[in-house]
Amino acid sequence: MALTNTIYQSPVFQQACNQFDLAADILGMDASVRERTKRPRRCVVVSMPVRMDDGRVEIFEGYRVQHNLSTGPAKGGIRFHQDVTLGEVAALAMWMSWKCSLAGLPYGGGKGGVVVDPRKLSGTELERLSRRYMQEILPFIGPNVDIPAPDVGTNEQVMAWMMDTYSNHKGHFDPGVITGKPVALGGSLGRREATGEGVAWFVKSYLQDLNVEPEKTTVIIQGFGNVGSEAAWALYNWGAEITGISDYTGGVFNPKGIDLKAANAWIAAHQTLQEFPGGEHMTNEELLEQPCTVLIPAALEGVITEKNAPKLKCRLLAEGANGPTSNKADEILAQRDDIELVPDVLCNSGGVIVSYFEWLQNLQNYYWTKNEVFDKLHRMLAKAKASVDETMKKHKCSRRTAALVLGIARVAEAKAKRGLFP
Ligand code: NAD
Repeated sequence: MALTNTIYQSPVFQQACNQFDLAADILGMDASVRERTKRPRRCVVVSMPVRMDDGRVEIFEGYRVQHNLSTGPAKGGIRFHQDVTLGEVAALAMWMSWKCSLAGLPYGGGKGGVVVDPRKLSGTELERLSRRYMQEILPFIGPNVDIPAPDVGTNEQVMAWMMDTYSNHKGHFDPGVITGKPVALGGSLGRREATGEGVAWFVKSYLQDLNVEPEKTTVIIQGFGNVGSEAAWALYNWGAEITGISDYTGGVFNPKGIDLKAANAWIAAHQTLQEFPGGEHMTNEELLEQPCTVLIPAALEGVITEKNAPKLKCRLLAEGANGPTSNKADEILAQRDDIELVPDVLCNSGGVIVSYFEWLQNLQNYYWTKNEVFDKLHRMLAKAKASVDETMKKHKCSRRTAALVLGIARVAEAKAKRGLFP
């Protein structure tokens, strides 16, 4: 059921609500628990005047949505993108609630966003905006309240500025307020790779179930940012051929395999994949329809639609991005038994799992090796995969609905047992 009387109304928030309802129906959830489990708990909207390098003052708008605080502090990334809306941030916060719950993390769900194209800012402007955003949301966050992390358009450096702003305000170094920091500032070894590493772990594991060998695997990845590029390297190192990559400027396809080192070097020199001489150039939409064993959307929401879902030519659709598949596309894919779908809340959970490890290390002031981090990560991913696939069989539902059933059930139970306040 649509939430009508809400400021979050938007297509992507509706998408998240529709997914929720499918799972809540299976759980036979009581109407009062259903509504408060679905609704975001609180949000802040901030307006941020920032001095630009040419002396002008520009006002930016930002959001932080805490969807659920019943199962622990909110946890979720901060997105810097020109098209960010409050409704999108609310949907992303909702997905964080289910993702943390599914992975068994002691967190609720949250997300932040700033309406800005970070590529259009100078380094100093980006620093001033990042610090100002932290300054504005500071009364609402903290290591026991809400712990942000990177998302699209933000990175380790942005997390470092935000952590520094928070710590200066508190008067002491307080790294547990944010994750995805540089290792020198309390970041965890393996956090940078974690989301892509997790996506690759699921791809390998599901392909093993399907008896597909690495040498026979081709992979197309939409979005060659943090998640996409780390997944690409992990799968390439496993023996797969990466035949397509893309960024916001378009896609590059090469059935013989893309030279990832050359792609990285090109991006380092030119910022984008535009004119990268490693394959045939095409639009992002065209790239998604090329034949491959594994298709990994790792950019933004809503790219797998009712239009292209019937045309996908992959065996495995592994959602690195959050919300890449529309509700209608989900229905079409459910009818296609030639495609296995690994849903976002499961597939990209490696990021928040290692963020949790980073937070634990910060709270304990005791740091782990990368092997320890990845060992623990893989064990948690295996546990989540097994429980999702078991739930899928039990309820004869899609893998996405099974993952959501598990994630939502724990949050709903916490709400029912705690009472009306949390
Ligand atoms: P990023 O900013 O590092 O990279 C995003 C990539 O997508 C870039 O290559 C960008 O050029 C490309 N892109 C942007 N707009 C595009 C468009 N319209 N079409 C095609 N490509 C486009 O971001 P990221 O951190 O890698 O996040 C990617 C996705 O993964 C998002 O959905 C994010 O929510 C999700 N995610 C990220 C993490 C994390 O740890 N960073 C964790 C879980 C999920």
